[in-house]
Amino acid sequence: MPLRPIVTLPDEKTLREVSKPVATVDSDVKKLWDDMLETMYRAPGIGLAAIQVGVPRRLIVIDLAKDGEEKKPLFVANPEVTWASEAQSDYEEGCLSIPEYYEMVTRPAEIKVRYLDRQGEAMELHATGLMATCLQHEIDHLNGVLFIDHISRLKRERVLKKFQKAQKLGKL
Ligand code: ZN
Repeated sequence: MPLRPIVTLPDEKTLREVSKPVATVDSDVKKLWDDMLETMYRAPGIGLAAIQVGVPRRLIVIDLAKDGEEKKPLFVANPEVTWASEAQSDYEEGCLSIPEYYEMVTRPAEIKVRYLDRQGEAMELHATGLMATCLQHEIDHLNGVLFIDHISRLKRERVLKKFQKAQKLGKL
């Protein structure tokens, strides 16, 4: 399973793209999922959307297993949030496309998501806790939204500038 390069800021052109649904879960989709999973494990991270490896398809991989625990990959295609709780929760989020930057983000504490699984079957997941946050973060990616869009404009502009500057200095 080849690793794929992860798209990072300041490449907003790619990261702001809205991804398209997959028609079916075929062998190409499974291969991409496998590459994404390997890339995510290697980074390491707990979630990755296809656009983060430059492919504008509505595909996500997530694995919340901790170090030393058995891996539990979740493969998600064409996710749709069908319900979100009024109750909110705060998590300190990070993103493989915004390396070494973490900030508190408030989102619905629980959601229900309809999606296609690795067998192409329609599934519905009631997600709570970290899984709810992670799914919302990854689904945002499919819509060209980054977690820094949920923080103050001042902080967002500061982090964008930091990455633009790093690129100019050849540090990316
Ligand atoms: Zn992310």
